[in-house]
Amino acid sequence: MKCEELLQYLSDYIDQELDEELTAEAQEHLATCHNCRVVLDSTRQTIFLFREQGKRNIPAQSRNRLFSQLQAAFLKSAP
Ligand SMILES: [Zn+2]
Repeated sequence: MKCEELLQYLSDYIDQELDEELTAEAQEHLATCHNCRVVLDSTRQTIFLFREQGKRNIPAQSRNRLFSQLQAAFLKSAP
């Protein structure tokens, strides 16, 4: 799995909505890719913050904004 693919699946991965095969691929990638782990952590934190505020799900709009910010930051840090 490539970083771009992982980012695409990240929200489903966090929600544990990926199928087994993709989950395994994502885990494998995360085990070897520091950048993606950082992105995963910050995404998770954001999602937890929303949930602490009593919102079960991040509104799609905020979620999309979050992911595009992450993607931009991530692409900037990529070699
Ligand atoms: Zn990666």
